[in-house]
Amino acid sequence: MPLVNAKEMMLKAKEGHYAVGAFNINNLEWTKAILLAAEESKSPVMLGVSEGANKYMTGYKVVADMVKAMVETLKITVPVALHLDHGTYEGAKAALAAGYTSVMFDGSHYPFAENVEKTVEIVNLAKTYNASVEAEVGSIGGEEDGVVGLGEFADPEECHKIASLGIDMLAAGIGNIHGVYPANWPGLNFDVLEQIKEKCPGMPLVLHGGTGIPEDMIKEAISLGVCKINVNTECQLAFAAATRKYIEEGKDQVKKGFDPRKLLAPGTEAIKELVKEKMAIFGSVGKAE
Ligand code: 13P
Repeated sequence: MPLVNAKEMMLKAKEGHYAVGAFNINNLEWTKAILLAAEESKSPVMLGVSEGANKYMTGYKVVADMVKAMVETLKITVPVALHLDHGTYEGAKAALAAGYTSVMFDGSHYPFAENVEKTVEIVNLAKTYNASVEAEVGSIGGEEDGVVGLGEFADPEECHKIASLGIDMLAAGIGNIHGVYPANWPGLNFDVLEQIKEKCPGMPLVLHGGTGIPEDMIKEAISLGVCKINVNTECQLAFAAATRKYIEEGKDQVKKGFDPRKLLAPGTEAIKELVKEKMAIFGSVGKAE
């Protein structure tokens, strides 16, 4: 199936009370692991790519062409959206031109009026590519690829205004942060989420910082309108732990264990298993059947 935008998957998730996982990719192994996990789980999936990861993989066109070719060659039948994660204004334009089917324009650090103005421009541009758009209000805490947020709560009134601009998904800060949560993290603020839901009926909401959020909180967030959950750090930790184990067991020194196709295999498998577990928790397994 060719890449799709996220419009239909978000509407179906909202109707069906589940969430689609948006898993960040960093290289070929990451991409393959996530696509195979989605296919085996018969789940729709979004591949998130930060601007830093785009640069690492040498550019938007390389990423878009690799993902398209891999979906075709692996005969992936579930819906796959290629999504720019925390895009800048220029980054969103470049991603759309290269063939991304979905973009997040993160204008949360601009004064609100400027966030509105730029979001409208990206929405209009995305229409010409039939791509979906995610906007953000109230920054997500923590740091991801140089994008730093303090973790403020979104203002429900501002969410309402941004939600009316023709976007397809809204990321709203509710105490979620990127990376591993500190031991004293107070948890997600469901009062704020409920107010946002009331002000933005029908709008699929996005939960960033999916790493380490306990299952009960994930389920409550989904019941309050969250339709997309972003996971990045947890895949990185799973990959690193499996690779460390392989090397600590000295397997890279046995026969041709140093061959990258062998060396990277346990980490790749660990990502695949983790993604399948997340899809089960998010309730998206079997939704692409
Ligand atoms: P984590 O790295 O905390 O899982 O967050 C991912 C994310 O929100 C990507 O935008």
